[in-house]
Amino acid sequence: MSTLYKVIVVGGGLAGLGAAYELSKDKRYQVTLLEQRDRIGGRIHALPIAGQMVDVGGFIVYPWYVEYHRILKELGLTNQLKKIPLQAIYYQIDQSGKYYTQRTIPFPKKDTARLALKLAVPVFQARDVAAPPLHSFDYMTGSEFFRDALNTKGPAGLYETYTNVVNQGYCYPSVDRFKMAFMAPFIRMSQFQGDVSDSFFVRSGNQQVPQALAAVITKAGNSIRTNVIVTGCTSTTAHTNQGDVSGDAIVFAQNVEPNVYQSILPDIKIKCGYTQYYSVIVELSGSVAVQGDTHWGAAFYLPDQTPLQIVSAVNLGMLYTPKLAHYLNLNIVVREAETHPQTADQLLPVLTTQLKKLFPDVTVRTLSQVVYWPMTMPIADEAFVGTVRARQGKLGHYFAGDWLGAPSMEAALMTGVRAAQQLIVDTTTTYQPIKSEPLYTRLNNGYTKLNKRLKNKITPVGGVRR
Ligand SMILES: Cc1cc2nc3c(=O)[nH]c(=O)nc-3n(C[C@H](O)[C@H](O)[C@H](O)COP(=O)(O)OP(=O)(O)OC[C@H]3O[C@@H](n4cnc5c(N)ncnc54)[C@H](O)[C@@H]3O)c2cc1C
Repeated sequence: MSTLYKVIVVGGGLAGLGAAYELSKDKRYQVTLLEQRDRIGGRIHALPIAGQMVDVGGFIVYPWYVEYHRILKELGLTNQLKKIPLQAIYYQIDQSGKYYTQRTIPFPKKDTARLALKLAVPVFQARDVAAPPLHSFDYMTGSEFFRDALNTKGPAGLYETYTNVVNQGYCYPSVDRFKMAFMAPFIRMSQFQGDVSDSFFVRSGNQQVPQALAAVITKAGNSIRTNVIVTGCTSTTAHTNQGDVSGDAIVFAQNVEPNVYQSILPDIKIKCGYTQYYSVIVELSGSVAVQGDTHWGAAFYLPDQTPLQIVSAVNLGMLYTPKLAHYLNLNIVVREAETHPQTADQLLPVLTTQLKKLFPDVTVRTLSQVVYWPMTMPIADEAFVGTVRARQGKLGHYFAGDWLGAPSMEAALMTGVRAAQQLIVDTTTTYQPIKSEPLYTRLNNGYTKLNKRLKNKITPVGGVRR
């Protein structure tokens, strides 16, 4: 490559920043990142509560997040990691409202054995969080898999219920919507390499990671433009609300918004939806206890069918600092997107009623922060993801984002970094850099030429030219 290769990156979440960061290490690439919001970070976001930055988006860093840990190290942020001090995690898994810990859930031994047998091979294969095998579960949803494995037509007992509770508590889709292919890497990795109790978070807010990535990207002379909405593309020109931006390649690292993706991939049926959640930080007064335990870490609640339901709560006093002892971070699933309340004032009565049942001894003081995530976790279709994977690098288009793998910060970052690495390989083989000759060769050639000229000019003594 003799001139700079211009790369447009769409989306300033971890996937887009990861791609731009990787390209920033190579001076041959000139990157322009376009982000529709007025901030970068996407689903990584932290907000202040009593002087402490509290994550309201992605925050758990599992010990097996290889790429996340690598980037943290490169950015000098490893010292910001803190082990999650969640003392006890409680689960409600039946209508009685009773709480269980993972050890006390009475999973039937027969089901455990049957599931272990059925899971062994496909789960073993699902090692890559960013690119799990798409066919190993025959396109089954979680519910279909449990019912098939346990040979039942109706709900497949405690395992299915428990997975549903955990899934929704972590903002994932219900088990009847989430495909096993995308769930498998989590099962594998958290079984063998550490679950939430072995995990970390960034003590002063995970937003530090996108901010540090952005600093490296801009320091390398690349640009990050916010408030730029990409509406579609023609070849390697992105159409935006602020005019066209042209490059030699585009990394699409924005969420799958069907209209925009249809313009990028006109011949493919776009099949990816998202769950919708609120993250609400609520301030309570009174004793915030679960089953009499004030040192609880997190609680997960049995999902019902109400349009808006608190599905999990994190005790911020235990996670961050005792100063936040009266604050909870609530994950609230939105089941009916059209009718959900829009403002904190509208949410307050709904949540107060639910909180009164979950914490009878407390009074709701205020909703300190309310964040609506219209695209919380992707619900992708295997065939769609497979087709997009096969298009990687074709026509100068690259794709990244958590929807390509097991939805997580790790999948986002890893797909971004890999897209950039593939782009570098592709452009390095397509565009051979004009290699300049080494200095000593140039000097030598120059000396030979000069010598020839001098020989021609200098007439040796005796007047005879050799
Ligand atoms: C409440 C919540 C809790 C979570 N908890 C965890 C957790 O504990 N651990 C974990 O690993 N993961 C967690 N996640 C998931 C994790 O945050 C995401 O998987 C990851 O951040 C996704 O990164 P991304 O870059 O793929 O997408 P995003 O972060 O969504 O980035 C996409 C970016 O593209 C921009 N964009 C979209 N359309 C356009 C357009 N047309 N033009 C320009 N820009 C556009 C968006 O504004 C956004 O900034 C959580 C997510 C949420 C919401």
